[in-house]
Amino acid sequence: MARIHILPPETARLIAAGEVIERPASALRELIDNALDAGASEIRVELASGGIDLVQVSDDGAGMSKEDLALSVLEHATSKIETADDLLTARTLGFRGEALASIAAVARLEMTSVESGTEMGWRLRKDIGGNASLTPTAARRGTTVSARAFFENFPARRQFLKRPSSEAALCRTVFNEKAVAHPGTTFVWASGGSSERLPAGGRLERIAILYPDLPARALRSFSAKTDEAAFEVVYTDPSCHRRDRRYVQIFVNRRKVPEWGLAGVLEYAFYEYLPGGMHPIAFLFAEIDPARADFNIHPAKREVRIKRLDELKNAFLTAFRTHLRVELGAGPTDMAPFLSERQLPGISGYSHGFTPLVGAMSQPAEARERFDPQAWEMPGEERPAFSSLGKPDSPAFRYLGRAFGPFLLFEKDDVLYILDQHAAHERILFDELSNETKSSQELLVPAVFDCPPGSARTRLSKSLCELSKMGYAIELTAESCVVNAVPSFLGEKAVQALAETFSNDGTNELPGFGLMATMACRAAITDGDELDPAAARDLVARALELPLPRCPHGRPIWVKLDRTSLDRMVGRLVQ
Ligand code: ADP
Ligand code: MG
Repeated sequence: MARIHILPPETARLIAAGEVIERPASALRELIDNALDAGASEIRVELASGGIDLVQVSDDGAGMSKEDLALSVLEHATSKIETADDLLTARTLGFRGEALASIAAVARLEMTSVESGTEMGWRLRKDIGGNASLTPTAARRGTTVSARAFFENFPARRQFLKRPSSEAALCRTVFNEKAVAHPGTTFVWASGGSSERLPAGGRLERIAILYPDLPARALRSFSAKTDEAAFEVVYTDPSCHRRDRRYVQIFVNRRKVPEWGLAGVLEYAFYEYLPGGMHPIAFLFAEIDPARADFNIHPAKREVRIKRLDELKNAFLTAFRTHLRVELGAGPTDMAPFLSERQLPGISGYSHGFTPLVGAMSQPAEARERFDPQAWEMPGEERPAFSSLGKPDSPAFRYLGRAFGPFLLFEKDDVLYILDQHAAHERILFDELSNETKSSQELLVPAVFDCPPGSARTRLSKSLCELSKMGYAIELTAESCVVNAVPSFLGEKAVQALAETFSNDGTNELPGFGLMATMACRAAITDGDELDPAAARDLVARALELPLPRCPHGRPIWVKLDRTSLDRMVGRLVQ
């Protein structure tokens, strides 16, 4: 006897519907898409019990005639494409003709619609498994769709629903994604007794309203059109960054997608402005030819396959990097040669296993105690804390003095600068370390510090080649590290910086960029170092010549206040 049988149509329907409508948030996504496709200028979302009892979406779009309303809930019913070839040109969010039929298979559906240009509206009601009924009704322009009592008939699926508050949060994520992708449409959210209205406007403003935890004043935007695509990025100054990728978001043709290739390139563009292991806050919106974007690989269109993705990535990287360099200052050097593959998410593939270098910059207290700088002598005259920089051709500025310890004040071209001495010195040293031509200074008496077998020693021996490029000459003996020469520009701190960088409690590997950033941080003057006015002027002059006035971790090295703003602040100028 045959063991295979054909499933009854209702069961097959339910299973197929489950692929499209997993939970109330999936219904919400489909209903908002339909409203957008109908050309709505305002979309209102209402939920009860986080969507489990009710998901309702109202729009003021084109509406449907009585005939279309009746057809819309049937399987494979769509007005958006006619043949498979139309997929190559469709700019609509929907095209599968499955959403309303799937929602009707798992929830009680009610739709009211008034077709634009007509007075009379129609209401369709359909209970799960039942027939649709249509009645005339008076209604306002557009369409309202309500889906009630999700999975009432589908216990296997219902048991996977979460608490109403969690389902509401998932719905909110969908709502935010749609609202961010369509800032020109007004969105209204009503759930659990509260309501919120997002007026139509620009993308930057919409992101600022939707994500109040982002520092709105640090938000910037970029847009460009290339042969490949139209790109827009809303991002924050890199001094605001995160340990996770929550705000690295990619939208292709107005859909949020997990497109790791583009996400990797977006992160790579920020690489030289961020501390190791940190992620930018950046939303990328790419509009590409629909023929290149295949969304038909997931029933809920949650993924996209992009043809000639590499060309798109390159076009974006070139345009956006150029913009960042103008906005944030030219990069120190091209970082690529210094970075290991692991650190270039855009190049080697976007990996969730990327190990952050978190903590690499924290000062290892044990190293400070163990290492005694007095024990080593530098040849030549005694050096003050900051003297090894030499005098550049000073751009004209007037040094005013110091504030709160680590801040140097100076004025230049009617602008008042407040400079963070540690950050500025760190960047200067970092640039020197990444410079090709470095001079090395032999120590009269080699410096020796303990370096017993262990993780610190392993890290040190792996870094010997890079250290020698910096100007260090190092030998490892059984239990110690012998330093014969140091980079001259690091001055008296050269050995201490090395010993601290490779202390035992440094937990992470320090390849390329990370090593240079850590060495620069250890060797730089600290907040407690009091520079005499000559050394302070020297530091300011150097800082003014920096191509990128940020510390290697992305923080700006100064804040500026121009004369006009100051006049305005004290009421001398009234506009
Ligand atoms: P798809 O969006 O893939 O075409 P749906 O099942 O979501 O499939 O919708 C079926 C059809 O119903 C749509 O093609 C559209 O013509 C119509 N429709 C659905 N929602 C709306 C709406 N809010 N306003 C106007 N027409 C709608
Ligand atoms: Mg649809």
